Amino acid sequence: MKITAILQRFRERVAVKLGLLLLSVFLLIIFSVGNILYSLFLNFYLSHVTEELVQRGHSHASVLSDHFFPVTIEHVIRMEKGSRFMVVILNKEGNVIASSASISPLQRDYLKEASGKKEGQENTIEKDWDTTPFLVSHSPIMQNGKTTGEVVMFSPTEPIRQAVRLLQWMLMITGIVTVLVVSGLLFIISRMVVRPLIEMKQATSEIAQGRYSTRVPVLGNDEVAQLAHSINHMSNEIQFYQNQRNEFLADIGHELRTPITYLKGYSEVLLRNDYTPDELTQSLTIIYEQSNRLQRLVQDLFDLARMEQGNFSFCFVPLSLEDVVTDVLSLVESSMDEKKISLEYEPPAMPMSIEGDKQRLEQVLLNILENARRYTPSGGKVYVRLNGTKTSAEIQIEDTGPGISSEELPFIMERLYRVEKSRSQETGGAGLGLAISKKIVEAHHGSLHVESEVGVGTKFTIQLPLKK
Ligand code: ADP
Repeated sequence: MKITAILQRFRERVAVKLGLLLLSVFLLIIFSVGNILYSLFLNFYLSHVTEELVQRGHSHASVLSDHFFPVTIEHVIRMEKGSRFMVVILNKEGNVIASSASISPLQRDYLKEASGKKEGQENTIEKDWDTTPFLVSHSPIMQNGKTTGEVVMFSPTEPIRQAVRLLQWMLMITGIVTVLVVSGLLFIISRMVVRPLIEMKQATSEIAQGRYSTRVPVLGNDEVAQLAHSINHMSNEIQFYQNQRNEFLADIGHELRTPITYLKGYSEVLLRNDYTPDELTQSLTIIYEQSNRLQRLVQDLFDLARMEQGNFSFCFVPLSLEDVVTDVLSLVESSMDEKKISLEYEPPAMPMSIEGDKQRLEQVLLNILENARRYTPSGGKVYVRLNGTKTSAEIQIEDTGPGISSEELPFIMERLYRVEKSRSQETGGAGLGLAISKKIVEAHHGSLHVESEVGVGTKFTIQLPLKK
């Protein structure tokens, strides 16, 4: 049971699969190449041996054709005595005149076959090197156009078989050694390819367990390295969002604690029943203000959460942007006057229609104008300009307030971000207004930008696409 499980796990490993696949391909190649080499060598060797046998027989027959005398016959026999070949010379009737070695019964059969052959027939009588003891060839001795005898040559096949066996052994040993070396190399290579994947697998399971600081080494620039890069990027992002979530929860806790502390403290005052009428009014006012603040905070958080999830419903209708801006300006005019801030409006040169949610766009403008009023000191100015191009409208809201430092500027549109954390009590803001405004503008396919200079002022620019 255990062994089957180990085998199963072994089979599931990519390195093993890859290694086996490459090895099978390699085996196929080496087998085919070995087979081709073997056939080529064998054919070449056999044709060489047969050719030599026939040529030798021919040259003896040619000499004897010119001088078919006992001296010449003796000379031919002597020539072949020391060689690995055997020569037999037959006369016209097929009788043996001379031979370089004693003739066995099997050889006699071949001699009979040779004497029966006609002029012009194939010279090799026996070509089977594997199962017969000789290769046999015959060459006719010709005089005046007539066959006067035959030269029959025998070549033993045992040396051929020995050579072939040696070749087979050599090919087999070379094959085995190559397969062993290559399989070792293939397994090393496939492990090298797979190792980064295993590291990534470990890294992703660590990330899944919450260890977001886990990183995988990025080596080179191939697809595997790009995957490692993506995993690192992903864990960076998760870490960032995790930190943001923690900060967000801590900030919400903090934001909720302040009004709740007020509510609790002033309700306790009222519960004591020994308050003066002034204290009653003051306590109720504070309880009312703080409940309002709490309600606004919860509503803002709720809106933001729904916008981030993408299920916040907008009611888009054709709108005159100028009407939206002037409606909001009439709402904030009196509060600006109260603080002695002059509000200057530059209307657009041409009418501007957009598709939008009036209430939500008003919420954005109110939030930015309310911030401008809050942070601009008495005697300051707030400019509102509306202009644009053929395709987009631009609303600028500029104040002469304290400005925002360049370090803080990139973060002011993030949820719960406030430049001066202690200022929230005084200004009543929780740092959600701009985050919500940005989401609303983006839902209108527009953008919200801010530029600011400390001591000079802040300028918000809203860009919205015009209705086609
Ligand atoms: P809040 O409700 O706290 O004002 P916002 O999201 O509207 O939250 O603004 C985020 C922060 O940006 C504010 O707390 C404030 O510090 C800064 N801010 C926004 N508008 C201005 C402005 N016109 N001048 C200076 N600071 C500003």
